[in-house]
Amino acid sequence: MECPNCHQNASRVIDSRPSDENRAIRRRRECENCCFRFTTFERVETAPLLVVKNDGTREPFSRKKILHGVMAAGQKRPISSEQFEQLVVRVE
Ligand SMILES: [Zn+2]
Repeated sequence: MECPNCHQNASRVIDSRPSDENRAIRRRRECENCCFRFTTFERVETAPLLVVKNDGTREPFSRKKILHGVMAAGQKRPISSEQFEQLVVRVE
C-alpha cells in the first residue's frame, strides 16, 4: 500500500481489527520509509442492486422509492410506519 505522505510502496500493518459490524477490516499501517501512519479499510465488493422496469430499463434500487410507493398504497390502512420500514428492508 502506497504511503500517502512519501508515496513509497512499503508499509507494514501495526493493527488490524473488525469495523462496521464485521463488514470491514480496519488496518493501521506504518510506512517503512518515513514512519507516517495511516488507515486502510478492506470490505467485500458488492454489485449495486438494480431494478428492471416494465420497459426493460434498469435503475439503481431505491429504498426511498419503495417506501413512498407502499406508504401511498397503504395510507388508509392500519399499518404503522415501522411496519412499512420493515417491509422495505425485507424487499431489499
Ligand atoms: Zn512514507
